[in-house]
Parts: sequence; structure tokens; C-alpha cells
Amino acid sequence: MLKLSVSKQSDDFRAEFRAWLAAHPRPASDDTSLDKFEQVGREWQRTLASATWLGTHWPREYGGRGLSLVEEAIVQEELVRVSAPQILGLFGLTMVGPVLIAHGSAEQKTRYLSKILSGEEIWCQGFSEPGAGSDLAAVKARAVPVEGGYYLTGQKIWTSFAHCADWCFVLCRTADGVKKHEGLSYLLVPMNSKGITTRPLKQISGDSEFNEVFFDDVFVPSENLVGKEGEGWKIAISTLMYERVVLTFSRQLQSEVALRAMLKTNSSAMSPVQRAELARCVIDACASRALAYKHLMTYADDKAPGPEGSLDKLLWSESFQRLCSLATSMVGVEAALGEMNQKVGAVLHRYLYSRGRTIAAGTSEIQRSIIAERLLGLPRSL
Ligand SMILES: Cc1cc2nc3c(=O)[nH]c(=O)nc-3n(C[C@H](O)[C@H](O)[C@H](O)COP(=O)(O)OP(=O)(O)OC[C@H]3O[C@@H](n4cnc5c(N)ncnc54)[C@H](O)[C@@H]3O)c2cc1C
Repeated sequence: MLKLSVSKQSDDFRAEFRAWLAAHPRPASDDTSLDKFEQVGREWQRTLASATWLGTHWPREYGGRGLSLVEEAIVQEELVRVSAPQILGLFGLTMVGPVLIAHGSAEQKTRYLSKILSGEEIWCQGFSEPGAGSDLAAVKARAVPVEGGYYLTGQKIWTSFAHCADWCFVLCRTADGVKKHEGLSYLLVPMNSKGITTRPLKQISGDSEFNEVFFDDVFVPSENLVGKEGEGWKIAISTLMYERVVLTFSRQLQSEVALRAMLKTNSSAMSPVQRAELARCVIDACASRALAYKHLMTYADDKAPGPEGSLDKLLWSESFQRLCSLATSMVGVEAALGEMNQKVGAVLHRYLYSRGRTIAAGTSEIQRSIIAERLLGLPRSL
């Protein structure tokens, strides 16, 4: 398996983490049910955080180690090497945490960051709405200023883990009569607030990982506004940049676990077409990893993630789908006849789960537009 090696410091860091992992075996994570995933992910996060292995690039005063995103990536690589389960508070760790470090007030950093790391507070992302997904700036959820805060009303959709989240970071409208990007603000909303209703949405995989969330005159105190009123767009984009780089890296590593399992398959049982497709998956995985390394190394000097994350996200999500299709085709007739065992079930579950990955965090079409316009400097599409 490839490994990120940037300096003696990063190599020493990896050795230290490996030693810790050897002394703290990861919990079993063979059960694919959502309930089990949540329970194991929460406990595993607490264990990792108690030894400061999460948020390693966060400032020391907020529970991190003051290192760079490179060390963060090394932790992810080592976790995948031992097939550790995913932590539950991934959105907090990879999105709202870094965003609060960059844009939050001192009080917000003190209040939220350590609980994000420990998983004591789980976060969900309240961006998408029925009429605002790709066109995120079209959000209609409205926060009306009142004495001491806002009243928030509107609907969010596809909100992953809202059913078990303690907090939601919400993009909402606070002004009209200005350009649509300028009338947005970024609020931190407790999910136990009066006026919030969460309804699960069942996915093709059978899980109900995401939800509709309704806000009905929910009071949000002024201190929960991140940045200034009207700065929501800038902060939302910053969130998406972290999502596409940092969260994608962790997902990309997870898909390498699936690839490794396939490489163990007896290749004589594969058709020539399947063997060629498997070779393509291996090449894709190496290319994705090399691209991620290239980007991560530029963040070693504290550079914030930018539009280049669209390359990572696009390459990973499309190759992950090809990989999952191949795995399913190799299961073949057994799957079609519904002869389920745990192994076949896991392959099918991963295949169905993979379908949403070219949509979540921005669709492939949107990533291609960002690459064309912001990285290649091509003219804007109409
Ligand atoms: C598994 C999963 C988890 C998710 N989790 C969350 C979450 O936790 N929080 C959250 O806020 N959202 C979440 N989402 C929502 C996700 O961000 C949106 O689904 C996504 O941005 C697309 O928006 P949409 O569904 O409204 O589709 P639309 O924007 O309506 O797009 C429909 C189709 O039109 C295409 N299209 C739209 N505009 C353009 C354009 N300008 N150029 C070219 N093609 C275009 C799209 O590519 C797509 O194929 C999740 C989605 C999935 C699948």
C-alpha cells in the first residue's frame, strides 16, 4: 500500500501512531447495519480522540496537535491499513471543525471544537433544499433577525445523520434585495431546538442515512452566527472545499479496502474483461492517491483547500462506482438469485451505496464545471 512520506517528522508521526494502534486494536466492524455503524463509530472516535489522534492539524489549544493536514492524512491511512471502522463525527471533523478554526469567533472555537473531536457532539450539514442542491445559493430557508438572535424557518433535505446529530450547520437567507450569494448567513443550530422536525428518507441501499429537516420558527441565538451576517456564501464554499479534499481522502481510502479484498480473489475465476476492469480500478486508485498526495503536500504549509478538491472528488467517486460494479459482477448469479450471505450482502450494499457518491458533495457535472472554470480558466457555462 502506498504511504504519504513528506518529512522525517511525518514518518516519525506514522511510526508513533502505528505503535499506538498495535496496542489499541480497532473494534470489529463487519456488521453493515446503520445502528451498529453509529454505535461503533461513536465509541471508536472517543478512543482515538482521547489519545489526540483526531484533528491533528487543529491548534493545540483546541485539542489538536498543531500539525498539518499531512499528519491528518497519515492517521487516515493507518486506520485503513488496519481496516478500522469509520468514526461517526466525520462532518464535524472534516467540515465544521476546520471552518470554525478559520472563520469562527474565539468563543465558538472554545465552545465547539473539543466536543467535535471527542464525538460528544455530532454534526450534520444543512445546506441542500428541495430547490437548492447544485444551485446552492438558491436556498430559501430564512432566518429573520429578532432581539438576541434569529427565527429560522424552512426545509433542508438529504441531511445525512440528522437523526443522530446534536448540531446542524445551516446555510440560510438573511437578506433580500441583494445578489443571491450576498444574502446568505451561516448558523449553528442545536438539533434539540423547539420547532425542528426530522424525517428519515430511505435510500436504495435500504439505509435511512439521510433525512428531511424542517425548521419552524426555530430560535437561534446571535452568538451562533459564524462570521458576519451576509458572509454565509464564503463560509459555505470553504466548508465544501474541506469536504471535497479531506472527506474525500478518507472515503477514497475506504474504497481501497474494497479493492484490496478484490485483489485477493483468485484471478483465474475472472473473465478477461473483469481482469482488465480490475487493472483499471488499480490504476484509478493509484492515480487518486497520487493526486490527493499532491494536494495534501501543498496544505503542509497551511494553505487552505481550494477548487482542486473537485478533481479528487470526481476521480474518486466515479472510480469507486466502477469498482463496486465490478465487485457486484463478480458475485454474479449468486447476487441475482438473492442467495445472500454476509459477504455477498456487503458487496451489494456497497454497490448501492456507491450510486449516491457522484451526487453527494456536488454532482459530477458540477465538479466538471468547477474544474473547467476555476482550474482551467475556461469560460463560464450558461
Ligand atoms: C448520499 C448523499 C448524502 C448527502 N448528504 C447531504 C448532507 O448531509 N447535507 C446536505 O446539505 N446535502 C446532502 N446531500 C445533497 C447533495 O449535496 C445534493 O443532492 C447535490 O448537491 C445535488 O443537488 P440536487 O439533489 O438538488 O440535484 P440538482 O441540483 O437538482 O441536479 C439534478 C441534475 O442536474 C444536474 N445539474 C444541475 N445543475 C447543473 C448545472 N449547472 N450544470 C450541469 N448539470 C447540472 C446535476 O448534475 C444532476 O445530474 C447528499 C446527497 C447524497 C446523494
